[in-house]
Amino acid sequence: MIFIYSLEKYELFLLILIVLILAGLFYYLAVKSRKSYTCPECGEKTKVEYMNTTRCGMCGSLLKQDEKE
Ligand SMILES: [Zn+2]
Repeated sequence: MIFIYSLEKYELFLLILIVLILAGLFYYLAVKSRKSYTCPECGEKTKVEYMNTTRCGMCGSLLKQDEKE
């Protein structure tokens, strides 16, 4: 009885650990897929998800990706 109880506790801990790891992984992937662009014309910074190129919302010129992010 005590063994079964401790096993369930262990499995619950393992389940929580797996959920935490998956949550961290998804958060990491979400942050990685998010790109930051700075407009070369007006300096406006734009965060873009799942896009490679976009245009500035302020002046309409093509944006380049920030190298530090
Ligand atoms: Zn601009």
